[in-house]
Amino acid sequence: MSSLEGQDFTPPERLIASREVDVAVIGAGIAGSSLAKALADRGWRVALIDRRAFPRHKVCGEFLSPEAMGMLNELGLAHRIEALRPAVVRAARLTAYGAEPVRVPLPGTAWGLSRYALDETLHEQVRSAGAEVATGTSVTALRRGPQHFALGLKRDGRTELVRAHAVIGAWGGNGRIPGLAGAGRPKRETSPYMGVKSHFTGCTVSDEVELYFFAGGYLGLSPAGDGIVNAAALIDRRTCGTAPTTVQGWLELALTRCPALSRRLAGAVPIADSQAAVAPVRLYGKPVAWDGVPLVGDACVTIPPLCGDGMSMALRAAQLCAASADRYLKGELTMAAWEADYAHAVRAEFARPLRWGRLLQRVSAHPALARLALAAAARLPGLARRLVLATRLSGREAAADG
Ligand SMILES: Cc1cc2nc3c(=O)[nH]c(=O)nc-3n(C[C@H](O)[C@H](O)[C@H](O)COP(=O)(O)OP(=O)(O)OC[C@H]3O[C@@H](n4cnc5c(N)ncnc54)[C@H](O)[C@@H]3O)c2cc1C
Repeated sequence: MSSLEGQDFTPPERLIASREVDVAVIGAGIAGSSLAKALADRGWRVALIDRRAFPRHKVCGEFLSPEAMGMLNELGLAHRIEALRPAVVRAARLTAYGAEPVRVPLPGTAWGLSRYALDETLHEQVRSAGAEVATGTSVTALRRGPQHFALGLKRDGRTELVRAHAVIGAWGGNGRIPGLAGAGRPKRETSPYMGVKSHFTGCTVSDEVELYFFAGGYLGLSPAGDGIVNAAALIDRRTCGTAPTTVQGWLELALTRCPALSRRLAGAVPIADSQAAVAPVRLYGKPVAWDGVPLVGDACVTIPPLCGDGMSMALRAAQLCAASADRYLKGELTMAAWEADYAHAVRAEFARPLRWGRLLQRVSAHPALARLALAAAARLPGLARRLVLATRLSGREAAADG
């Protein structure tokens, strides 16, 4: 029995309305938005709910891998995103611990685009597909009854009850829903990592994503469209004596640890209000496909950010979940069969890229090993390409190039 099953739902105070949808998707980042679109396209009544107001800046390298582009294309979204004029990215330039930089061509063409623009555009497309997008709306309670789930939603101090036949969690790596804390809930890994990002003007990045590795972390520079450069860093808080209190402070810490980066960003000007931070960033947790409800995106699985593949994994989990949710809603699967089907698909799909992504993360954190790996990549470009491919989702290359 699920931890949610059989609990009574007490309608929240100041209930203003009550209505029913087929699916409530909680979390409107790239995973939730793409899933909501896929289910609305199949004709289901979908509510996509997020506690944050959009558009918003989000900690992300804003690098859309070739695989991510392929999946956005399959969802019929690539042309809308192309209209935002994303930057084209063809290679990664890696600089580690003072060693000579190495350029690694990407297996396919990638895009650089701000999450501020991307997520907002996804929401427009979700609405066009017929789904409701409720941002600035918190889920304050979630219970499973015999026939449906009941969700308490709160927006602008007003409360609403929504009934849903299925609920899907797309609430990111640190999301929590009251009422979901069941006895069988998987324990989450603790992590010392902090993520920060800021947009800059006054410097240019060509068709490359630049990764700088230094003691205690790394920082990526990528073009985010419209001549904007995005800087996103991951830093181990254990390596900081007194932790900075602002995003700018964290970025300056990265510059003091990496002279090449400091030179690179000389003259760059941070764009006001584009800063964001997140902690903890978990790098090594096992995928969790189900926690009372199915999970997608970072809620389900996180790959170390240096792989630049978190969004493509979020899109893939959403694809897998949409297929099995559709069968559940049609009555072809029981909830238990849905859980088994989806959990199996998640394991099969993500085990390999996670293994390789985590290995690369460990190597990158070790100065001698990282320098050795870069020297090998410079001498053997074929090996570097195979390593990049190993962190990617199998069978997605064709879609990405198409
Ligand atoms: C430093 C860093 C750099 C990265 N760089 C890249 C990169 O270059 N390329 C790449 O592909 N990936 C990158 N990633 C990973 C990528 O950002 C994530 O994998 C991706 O954003 C996951 O999307 P998501 O939809 O699962 O989660 P999110 O985008 O985090 O969305 C989750 C949403 O759920 C909402 N939410 C949470 N709790 C609730 C609640 N209780 N009620 C309602 N809403 C709720 C949140 O407000 C949020 O909007 C990076 C990550 C980090 C930390």
